[in-house]
Amino acid sequence: EQIDIISLCKETIASFRGAYEREIQLQSSLDVLYVNGNTAQLKQILYILIDNGLKYSDNEVQVQISTEADEAILQVRDYGQGIPESDQLRIFDRFYRVDKARSRDTGGTGLGLAIAKAIAESHQGKLTLESTPGKGSTFILKLPI
Ligand code: ATP
Repeated sequence: EQIDIISLCKETIASFRGAYEREIQLQSSLDVLYVNGNTAQLKQILYILIDNGLKYSDNEVQVQISTEADEAILQVRDYGQGIPESDQLRIFDRFYRVDKARSRDTGGTGLGLAIAKAIAESHQGKLTLESTPGKGSTFILKLPI
């Protein structure tokens, strides 16, 4: 089905605002942006990325939507602890967590990003990451338009 990812982002962000007192900003110069896919699954990716951004930082989380050629680009950015380079590939593995002792307190199983990556790939998309320890992380989802 055709899905407007701008309104999907707005809905998902609104559901977090109801539950947490945390700032989540949506940045986009587009009013609508349609991609082909499964609404529940794309919502789940967004939910996983925003939830992680909130869990692993104390500041705002930014969701940015743009396009490049025939791709929709959705970035979820936080200004939190970041992810060491040596862990950046492995965090997409099932059950992998960077800091086992500390992240146990924040709950979770280490499955979120593995699920998010599988959904991205089943939509012919890509999920990648840019992160600087101590500065924050940006997860980048690219989907064909
Ligand atoms: P859950 O299954 O509930 O999502 P989780 O957050 O541990 O639990 P993933 O979402 O797969 O599982 O994330 C794996 C690990 O990657 C996390 O435990 C954390 O160490 C690291 N991580 C994920 N997102 C971020 C982020 N935004 N900032 C810093 N570390 C992150």
